[in-house]
Amino acid sequence: MEGEFCMSLKLEHITKSYGCIEAVKDVSFTSQGKHFIVLAGPSGCGKTTLLQLIAGFLKPDSGSIWIDDKEVQHAKPHERDIAMVFQDAALFPSMTVYDNIAYGLTYGGLSKQEAGQRVRAMAEVLGIDGLLKRKAEALSNGQKQRVSIARALVRRPKLFLMDEAFSALDTRLKAQLRLELAKLYQQLDATFLYVTHDRLEAMTLADTLIVMKEGVFQQIGDPLKLYRDPANLFVAAFLGTYEINTLQAYVDGNILAFEKECIKLSNTYEAQEVIMAIRPEHLIFSKEGMRGRIVLVEHLGDECYIRLAWQDHLFYMKVDRKVNIQLYDEVCFRFDPKEILLFDKTSEQRLFGK
Ligand code: ATP
Repeated sequence: MEGEFCMSLKLEHITKSYGCIEAVKDVSFTSQGKHFIVLAGPSGCGKTTLLQLIAGFLKPDSGSIWIDDKEVQHAKPHERDIAMVFQDAALFPSMTVYDNIAYGLTYGGLSKQEAGQRVRAMAEVLGIDGLLKRKAEALSNGQKQRVSIARALVRRPKLFLMDEAFSALDTRLKAQLRLELAKLYQQLDATFLYVTHDRLEAMTLADTLIVMKEGVFQQIGDPLKLYRDPANLFVAAFLGTYEINTLQAYVDGNILAFEKECIKLSNTYEAQEVIMAIRPEHLIFSKEGMRGRIVLVEHLGDECYIRLAWQDHLFYMKVDRKVNIQLYDEVCFRFDPKEILLFDKTSEQRLFGK
């Protein structure tokens, strides 16, 4: 089945439990127009369950799912105009690459010639046109995953769902497939919904990022906005290649106090205990300030991260690779006050000052 471009996906109060485990809790979400949506969160937070509910492999306990103007939660998977790719490519091993991709079109009512054109065009986009005659069992993992993406997309679904599709691949191959996926998204009229627990994939692929925890959507929006402006400590800690640094602190007006240090903030807050958080790129070497010792240096080629031991704390700091530092050096550093994020100590929700 093949249809018009998916203009909207709407989830209304979706709930799904397995016995006493509530995997998805009252989730609502609307996407209008073409989007690359990434659903990210730690293992067990309900991502796969939600994807399977949208695909029709599971039924919600309550709530409704809309694709364009059709309510689909009771529709069978093949009636939803959706294609899905899983972590495991699941091809027919003894069939050729061509036949595996064409399988997606078997029930589409296309002529053999049209089907052939589509298969070849899709194979070309994914760089597997040279493999069409090869048996699927004779492919590498990266090639298999490309074939399974081609098989899903050759049908031109409105909604393309991917569940941890690249997680079994090595880092370089993942980066290459991310690029191809981004290109495919530009070329096709389909909304992509991609599930991952990989922070880098979440940040780089999404135009709309959803961070999920324990069956609940924590925040939805532009990935950079979520990175810079997290709604709660969980989102702040989940995003970013390196952990955000956190400390128990006390704020009163525009003064933030922790251990024996004080920092003047640009906003003012009601007096309260807080959790302060600051990203590694917002620690700065200074002539005076906190004195810490470098206990780990990680050179990543273009970038360098260090771990700084300060009192009983360990901070991640991003360092310009041109700065001359040595393991076990004692250094002075400070936090950039403009970049400090404050969270309620109990609810861990973000605090916004005046
Ligand atoms: P992962 O990233 O590890 O795949 P996930 O975010 O996709 O995790 P789900 O697979 O949706 O999470 O699982 C959500 C919760 O539901 C987990 O606590 C999981 O143990 C539970 N769960 C999932 N499938 C079943 C099942 N068939 N029966 C019972 N519990 C299940």
